[in-house]
Amino acid sequence: MSIYIIPTLILGLIFGSFFNVVIYRIPIVLDEKLKGNKDYSLVKYLSWPASFCPNCKNKIAWLDNIPIFSWILLNGKCRNCKNPIKTRYLVVELLSAIIFSYSYLKFGFSFEAFFWIGLFSILIILFFIDAETFFLPDFFTLPLILLCFIGSYLGFTNLILIDSVIGAILGFLVLFLVNLFYKAWRKVDGFGGGDFKLLAGLGAWFGWLSLPIIIGMSSIFGLLYVLIMTLIKEKKVQLNTMLPFGPFLILSSLFVYVNSYIFKFF
Ligand SMILES: [Zn+2]
Repeated sequence: MSIYIIPTLILGLIFGSFFNVVIYRIPIVLDEKLKGNKDYSLVKYLSWPASFCPNCKNKIAWLDNIPIFSWILLNGKCRNCKNPIKTRYLVVELLSAIIFSYSYLKFGFSFEAFFWIGLFSILIILFFIDAETFFLPDFFTLPLILLCFIGSYLGFTNLILIDSVIGAILGFLVLFLVNLFYKAWRKVDGFGGGDFKLLAGLGAWFGWLSLPIIIGMSSIFGLLYVLIMTLIKEKKVQLNTMLPFGPFLILSSLFVYVNSYIFKFF
């Protein structure tokens, strides 16, 4: 193992810290833009103001902003107001460090490693934005689709470009049609438009044959989640309870990835 794994890990942690900012701020910017507020420039709002506590708005000193270590040292609480800091901050930093080192160990310092880091990073960001805001922004789903096309064209994925394109179209259509029928039946959307585009991206990555597996597994994960939530909170999650579907799609695609790129179970 090369000694470069250490700087790679640190880089992963730093990027993870940035992803946390993105996860918190992008939905705010997009929401303000939707309301017609033009003052919110994406680039500007991502770089300024400096990190602050979402609860007391106090600026976070650099010492309290070191990935993982600060969270552990502060016992997961803001130094100023003692409000809990989401475990998500820790999880995203760890996940990011894992994908950076995994991609580096597998592909070395190469364009292909950057490609995979980009792809996995988008999934991490989408997972948590959807879990927290029930929203999968085009800002990330569309680049996901495009990146998978590029990957297939360059031979980084297991697909040729045309199969990638077919996977994207069918991925989009299948949820779009399910939603159409659901809407006709219950008069409300069953899925959000972001779900169609996310599944288009996953179809572009893994091909149309993987779509039934991804949808099937996501539904099982969704049901398990509802069951567990009902048991823990002893509160009934009803049929019309809003549930983000993106995290379940992403979790399932991870299994498909492990199967088609690492172990090849089937
Ligand atoms: Zn605070």
